[in-house]
Amino acid sequence: MKLAPSEIWFVCGSQHLYGPGPLKQVAANAGEVAAALDKSKHIPVDIVFKALLTTPDEITQLCLDANSDPKCAGLILWMHTFSPSKMWIRGLTSLKKPFCHLHTQFNRDLPWETIDMDFMNLNQAAHGDREAGFIHTRLRLGRKVVVGHWSDVEVQQRLGAWTRVARAWHDWQGAKFARFGDNMRQVAVTEGDKVAAEIRFGFATNGYGMGDLAARVKAVNAEAIDALCFEYESTYTVAKELRQGGARHGALREGAQAELGIRAFLEEGNFKGFTTTFEDLHGLTQLPGLACQRLMADGYGFGAEGDWKTAALLRAMKVIGDGLPGGTSFMEDYTYHLSPKGHQVLGSHMLEICPTIAVAKPSLQIHPLGIGGKADPVRLVFDAPAGPALNASLVDMGSRFRLIVNEVKAVKTPKLPKLPVARAVWECQPDFKTACAAWIYAGGAHHTGYSYSVTTEHLEDFAEIAGIELAVIDGDTRLREFKTELRQNDLYYALAQGLRV
Ligand code: MN
Repeated sequence: MKLAPSEIWFVCGSQHLYGPGPLKQVAANAGEVAAALDKSKHIPVDIVFKALLTTPDEITQLCLDANSDPKCAGLILWMHTFSPSKMWIRGLTSLKKPFCHLHTQFNRDLPWETIDMDFMNLNQAAHGDREAGFIHTRLRLGRKVVVGHWSDVEVQQRLGAWTRVARAWHDWQGAKFARFGDNMRQVAVTEGDKVAAEIRFGFATNGYGMGDLAARVKAVNAEAIDALCFEYESTYTVAKELRQGGARHGALREGAQAELGIRAFLEEGNFKGFTTTFEDLHGLTQLPGLACQRLMADGYGFGAEGDWKTAALLRAMKVIGDGLPGGTSFMEDYTYHLSPKGHQVLGSHMLEICPTIAVAKPSLQIHPLGIGGKADPVRLVFDAPAGPALNASLVDMGSRFRLIVNEVKAVKTPKLPKLPVARAVWECQPDFKTACAAWIYAGGAHHTGYSYSVTTEHLEDFAEIAGIELAVIDGDTRLREFKTELRQNDLYYALAQGLRV
């Protein structure tokens, strides 16, 4: 994906108690740690050693600089030595960027034979980071705490996961999502408070008339359509009737024209995602299926039926997972297999499943839609792979947002010769009945972001940065405890957030 440049600032805290000699050593060590993390293959975002901070004014200035630096996606904080935390109050209360607290120590092993008080005074993270943790907790600041030696692969992986999430959060700030048409009929879960979302999440969703989009689609030139149809034929297994010279090639050209028109609209308006609704296709000949599939594959967030929250969530998940193996798609729990031998979910949508989760070369086909009263739409048809995956749903609880995650095990798709849409089949964790009941108790939507690359750890970090509730349904979920957690969270977030959003 083409993302705006971003970096993470590595910041070390200390104080003047130690004198200039040790402080010089602390700064050199912090620089070495930052350089090693920057080089780590587990950390995709640049890590820049920014400063050794020793006074309240320095700390405050750095936090203000971080807020205003367009490249800074977040901070990693580490107290190599003791840094009294009253010094951090003014800075941290003004900090708007997310931070991760790395609890590490420069030296890995204690030199038991030679350890003296100089060593003890230099390697003080064991108590310095506890002082930092106190003020973070005292200020009720959401953050990730990563513990272990900085050379430890698991530590670097956890930091790397957080940098992915910080980058996705950074990408959301000022992002724009286009809602073509409005909501679908009287559907509740796809609605929500777009003002509250902009306050809480930093992205804007605005509606656009279908006539404006239709005009942009109409303006697409024939040569561009020729070229795109040629690209389709070289990328997918295109049905014979859709190929050049085929009886329904005109329908493929309509699909290409819709893709080019929507893409141009999104590029010209600098949008990061969009929604459609098959109820309002004014001026379009087909429901855009192929177009939505291919735009998703290029990193655009997408939600069907006006579902702007899922469009925004999908964009964030695509940024989080960028470069990792396994794709991410818009998804819908469509229908169930309730066999006594094992319950499964068949996930799909009318058309709009992202080909980044295709297990093999997609097939480009045309079939009637059955609803909507428009021409038969072209679409990519494929199976999704087996393996660990998850579904995530962002819902508006009225006074706040809740992110719900269900870990699933995708299985090999059975042969489905009559089903003309892309699909995935999975088994829910901890089991079908518990997972579905928990999801329904939590108010999770039928639309989700479905991913093989994004993990629960990523979404936990994301919810922490956003300051919203995360409800996880995984192998350890027990329904009674889960219901209690939901009730307690209702209270916690009402109290913690007050009347702000
Ligand atoms: Mn739907």
